[in-house]
Amino acid sequence: MNPLVETTISCPYCGEFIDVLIDCSEAQQEYIEDCQVCCRPIVFTVNMSNNGEPTVSVRDENEID
Ligand SMILES: [Zn+2]
Repeated sequence: MNPLVETTISCPYCGEFIDVLIDCSEAQQEYIEDCQVCCRPIVFTVNMSNNGEPTVSVRDENEID
């Protein structure tokens, strides 16, 4: 299985769609990656489903507790 899956997300700041590579070797992960368009830090939350497809959700940094 390819450990890297490309997916498209919508930036929570500027709304632009950007392509990101998800590392599927981790079952659950959270990390910050700067938007390629507006350069603001997007918080990624990735959960792997049973079929090996990643579920990716994004939010802006200010929503962190
Ligand atoms: Zn952006």
